[in-house]
Amino acid sequence: MIEFFKGTRPLSFVLPIISVGYISVIAGTFFYRNNPLTRYVRVATFSGFFIMYVFTLMTATTSVTFTFVFPLATLFCMYVDRWFMFIVCSFILLLNGLYIGNKLYSVSKQEIGEAAYNQFTTTMLIHSFVLLLFMSSLIAIVYVFHRLRRAMEYKVQEAHHAKETGQKLYAQATIDGLTGVFNRRHFVEKVREQLSGTGISFSLLLLDIDDFKKVNDVHGHLAGDQVLITFSNLLRQVYADIGMVGRVGGEEFAVFLQGRSEDESLALAEGLREMLEQTGIAINGEKQISVTTSGGIAYADRSGMTFEELFQLADKALYTSKDSGKNQITKAQPVCI
Ligand code: GH3
Ligand code: MG
Ligand code: MG
Repeated sequence: MIEFFKGTRPLSFVLPIISVGYISVIAGTFFYRNNPLTRYVRVATFSGFFIMYVFTLMTATTSVTFTFVFPLATLFCMYVDRWFMFIVCSFILLLNGLYIGNKLYSVSKQEIGEAAYNQFTTTMLIHSFVLLLFMSSLIAIVYVFHRLRRAMEYKVQEAHHAKETGQKLYAQATIDGLTGVFNRRHFVEKVREQLSGTGISFSLLLLDIDDFKKVNDVHGHLAGDQVLITFSNLLRQVYADIGMVGRVGGEEFAVFLQGRSEDESLALAEGLREMLEQTGIAINGEKQISVTTSGGIAYADRSGMTFEELFQLADKALYTSKDSGKNQITKAQPVCI
């Protein structure tokens, strides 16, 4: 196969094509600096290199080792390390020098005649020229390859960063910063979405911590925050995977359940109320306090209710709990549409 390539074309045909390839590589490399990810630049650079490679193989002047084995090895090097590749290139050029030097030394003008000697030196010169072109285009292509890789890495990093920023912004827009549950706006949006679906049996539970102002007044605002965090953790614990929890006011929370019966919803709410009552909340790392919550629960056994209607019913029930001594859950009148 190598013999087939060697010397199948005259140099007058091969050299201009190699030059075109070379110019293409150099132009591509130059423009690449400004447009690292432009497809045309990449195509110009890499196809230029391909032309050079193929036509270098076709010159009768270059040896098989130089045109076939070394460049391939060198190309492989660019996957490893660019500096390693420069060392290999220098090594090849040095070998080439030694090769030509040795040839010139071993061939004597007297022995082969002046005409043959001149032809021999011209061949050697062309050989060096082609090899130099080839090697410099290899360096250019390695340069492009590495820039491309860096540009890609940068793009990937940028995309990753944009994704992270997007996620952060989304969390900031939907999650309450202190408690980690949905904020009011997002909670309402989500409930509206579910109410407009085809599901059945919805319940909305509104919870308000009892005498929360006193906690702030007696133990300080930070203690109040600690109570809010503890309460929302309990809510998440009880309603994880079965419902949506949102903070709808300062110390007011709401839970939306779908597909649960009224009794089930009420039992869950009662369970939560008892849990809170029995939970000792460590304040400033030492003192333990406990708080209670009042709640109102509204239930609808079919869709068709608006969020406002459901909220109003639950709110009314919550006020009944407050008026009847707090620390209890009140059922709103069941709604059948
Ligand atoms: P009730 O039993 O009737 O609900 O009385 P309450 O004291 O719980 O209710 P009130 O509405 O009088 O007080 C609520 C307090 O919650 C007032 C406000 O300063 C406090 N608050 C609201 N948001 C926060 C917060 O993020 N952190 C803290 N520490 N306090 C908050
Ligand atoms: Mg309140
Ligand atoms: Mg309150």
